[in-house]
Amino acid sequence: MPSTALNTPNSFIDCAWLLAAPGSQPAQANARIHLAGALINAVEPLAATPAGPRKLVMPALVNAHDHTRTFRSATLGAFGMPLETWLPFFGTVLPSADPYLCAATSLARSARNGVTNLMVHYTRVQGGMNYLDEALSVARAARDVGVHIGFAVAMRDRHGIGLCDDNTVLTALRPSLRQAVSARLSVRPLQPAEHLAVVDALAQALQSEPDLAEYVTVQYGPTGVQWCSSPLLEAVALAAHDTGRPVHMHLLETRYQRDWADQAFPKGIVNHLDAIGLLGPQLTLAHCTGASPCTADIMASRCCRCSGCPAAWQVFFGPRSPASPCRARAAAHRVHA
Ligand SMILES: [Zn+2]
Repeated sequence: MPSTALNTPNSFIDCAWLLAAPGSQPAQANARIHLAGALINAVEPLAATPAGPRKLVMPALVNAHDHTRTFRSATLGAFGMPLETWLPFFGTVLPSADPYLCAATSLARSARNGVTNLMVHYTRVQGGMNYLDEALSVARAARDVGVHIGFAVAMRDRHGIGLCDDNTVLTALRPSLRQAVSARLSVRPLQPAEHLAVVDALAQALQSEPDLAEYVTVQYGPTGVQWCSSPLLEAVALAAHDTGRPVHMHLLETRYQRDWADQAFPKGIVNHLDAIGLLGPQLTLAHCTGASPCTADIMASRCCRCSGCPAAWQVFFGPRSPASPCRARAAAHRVHA
């Protein structure tokens, strides 16, 4: 019998090391994985190391926070630079492109690196078609590449230019610049109900295309507390409770966001999320770079998840960055980080 023909019924894979459940089970030496079609039927130990090249077998990787960007920050010469210096350029300098091709190239790049499950926080709309058609294009790209995605519908209703009201920033600019900056960056806020309706409509559209739906989990994607008003976050919390859909959001990615949060929420930003009912197992918070041990404790006690990013951590702290308090608290509370 061939040992690598994954699509052959009743084939098997022999490996020198098996990481069946990394992080919770130790590596297992010398194992045979029995396959039934594309599914694992059984795993049995082998008495000796299999002949031939030594194989390490492990589950495919998961990317818990991604934006399916064809062009990455490094494309703008912004690798390792603070978020605030390059984020506006993604929406204003880089031209829009076909959303299917953007998503397909990004997802295929992930698949080539061993990632088969990704969280797509869809913050950059390419435009040129209505939102539902664009989101379905991303779903088609996921299906065609063969990866499963969480698709979080990005929501933002304030602070388009800086970490305060858009008019405050515009007033501080030279009058000759105001109109151009406002046209490119100011937020055109929708009502919370309009944001939620997009999520419902996407879920409904996917229901009528089952071959796409099996690749996509629809989620709420408020972009971050500094970019979402309290009424919007409260509406998301309520909708997530009613529908059971997950919520994916950035939190405390940069020093400036931390400074803003300390001023805006003297009792703590996660206490604010807790008070409006958003903090819980349905919530994943991306980065949490500026989370204090106390913040991480509250997150862990509510069983919400943190998807950390070593690159953001290094931008915040430099190359000798300390260990993430979220990771330590996750270990203590047995939740995912
Ligand atoms: Zn992000």
